[in-house]
Amino acid sequence: FFIAIEGGDGAGKSTQVEALAQWIRGKGHEVVVTREPGATAVGKRLRSILLDVSDAGISHRAEALLYAADRAEHVDTVVRPALARGAVVISDRYIDSSVAYQGAGRDLAPTEIARISRWATDGLVPHLTVLLDVSPETARERFTEAPDRLESEPAEFHQRVRAGFLTLAAADPARYLVVDAGQAPEDVTTVVRHRLDQLLPL
Ligand code: C5P
Repeated sequence: FFIAIEGGDGAGKSTQVEALAQWIRGKGHEVVVTREPGATAVGKRLRSILLDVSDAGISHRAEALLYAADRAEHVDTVVRPALARGAVVISDRYIDSSVAYQGAGRDLAPTEIARISRWATDGLVPHLTVLLDVSPETARERFTEAPDRLESEPAEFHQRVRAGFLTLAAADPARYLVVDAGQAPEDVTTVVRHRLDQLLPL
């Protein structure tokens, strides 16, 4: 069973990933917690390129392809093998992050980014994508140490990213759970657990 946790910077993804992993493990399942970008040896190198160049700049198409390369390696060497042995995989970010950041956030067509990702993953789609939705303002207020990206990109960029995520979720409600991530983290976890209770054979 494959779960992707998506959302903008400062939405609280890593907190939710850990809470859900602990809960699912408690039910006796193997859980693989993973992330993009940077879950593999190649991915770590790509991550450092992607995050280092964000100041110096990189062409938007090159950026999109590096994220796709990270994802291809991730799916091939981590996600698919774990799913094949029956583990529950929880990924902190997946395809939607590319569609939202490199597509909606930049000037590239979201449908093109989705197409690259489909090729990179050979069509692997999560069973459930949890979108932690929070306004960039709330994200910034909640974090005394805001993630770099919240500071380095203008508010409009984060608004476009947020709208990009919401558009994806609206197009496929059966496969998405949109949670108001402005709530207390425990309340967010409860909402997600409720949905997983209905989906997972636990
Ligand atoms: O989620 P994490 O903090 O690891 O992501 C690192 C940075 O990469 C974040 O600032 C995020 O905005 C950015 N990112 C991106 N495009 C993606 C995934 C992440 O710009 N597809």
